[in-house]
Amino acid sequence: MANVLIVAEQHAGKLRKATLHALSAGRELAARTGGELAAALLGSGLDAAAAELAAHGVEVHVADAPGLEHPLAEAWAPVLADLARATGATHVGAAATAVAKDVLPRVAARLEAGMATEVVGFGGEGSAVTFRRPMWAGNVLAEVEIVTAVKVFTVRATEFAPARKEGQGAIRRAPVAIDPASLRTRHVGFVEVKIARPELTEARAIVAGGRGTKGDFKPIEALADALGAAVGATRAAVDAGWVPNDWQVGQTGKVVAPELYVAAGISGAMQHLAGMKGSKVIVAVNKDPDAPIFQVADYGLVADLFAALPELQAKLK
Ligand SMILES: Cc1cc2nc3c(=O)[nH]c(=O)nc-3n(C[C@H](O)[C@H](O)[C@H](O)COP(=O)(O)OP(=O)(O)OC[C@H]3O[C@@H](n4cnc5c(N)ncnc54)[C@H](O)[C@@H]3O)c2cc1C
Repeated sequence: MANVLIVAEQHAGKLRKATLHALSAGRELAARTGGELAAALLGSGLDAAAAELAAHGVEVHVADAPGLEHPLAEAWAPVLADLARATGATHVGAAATAVAKDVLPRVAARLEAGMATEVVGFGGEGSAVTFRRPMWAGNVLAEVEIVTAVKVFTVRATEFAPARKEGQGAIRRAPVAIDPASLRTRHVGFVEVKIARPELTEARAIVAGGRGTKGDFKPIEALADALGAAVGATRAAVDAGWVPNDWQVGQTGKVVAPELYVAAGISGAMQHLAGMKGSKVIVAVNKDPDAPIFQVADYGLVADLFAALPELQAKLK
């Protein structure tokens, strides 16, 4: 039987939203392989998050031990590899978050498993299940078959709907033997950036600006606030030092798929499109009628953003 183990993430007792998307990817995979779905939850003080996970109908394996409080790859990887062996998992996955990108390759190495990253879908059935993943900034979709006995993968949360609460899973404590003193890495601190706006990857709407703003993001931010949206940016705007780099959307930034993406003063380079073209409705505001962004836009406005955005904002009021 091909069991699927999804690595969950929590913060301050609450499950990360991305985990719920990974869970539904795991559920689809388990249906294709005919196996069971389970989740692994590592950290400390995990009761609330474990209960939330179990309410989604999955068996939850909780590893709560000193040394696991913070997602240190050195500490988490051996625990997860042991858990995968103990649960007979043939597929170990997670949402492609910063944590998973750090931890899962080490889990794959320990399990001598092949790995597919940023998976956007699955194909096939049983042992012939394949993993669909973007290449070349999303211009090519590859269908990958992993031939090792255990397969490790990360999924793009934006490509899978969040799991719904269905059924009730058991919560099991995983025996963990870890000597925190033996770790060669240690957690120094966690600097949380507090923002009043929604987080980019979780926002329902995003207003993004590019070089066309000439460094003046006021109209972008004002429209975002009128819509209750997050603010995004191109790499050009970030590299110019106009906005913080955690606003960057694209191949080397964040991948987003909100209900609404407003791109203002953005040309639509393929590296930017790689991060936002999955958005449900794309609105482009650009002075240049030949800007490539119009090729992916559902609504295009050939206009000066400094005139158009305040007008849009006024209409929203
Ligand atoms: C390896 C690699 C990775 C990269 N990763 C990323 C990434 O993650 N994200 C990303 O965004 N880019 C990325 N890039 C950079 C990317 O190739 C583009 O250079 C960048 O996206 C361009 O940003 P822009 O659209 O803001 O600027 P430009 O391409 O200069 O476009 C500015 C646009 O603003 C319009 N404009 C000007 N004034 C106004 C106005 N007043 N009103 C309305 N429109 C106006 C212009 O007509 C133009 O279309 C990457 C590049 C490489 C090589």
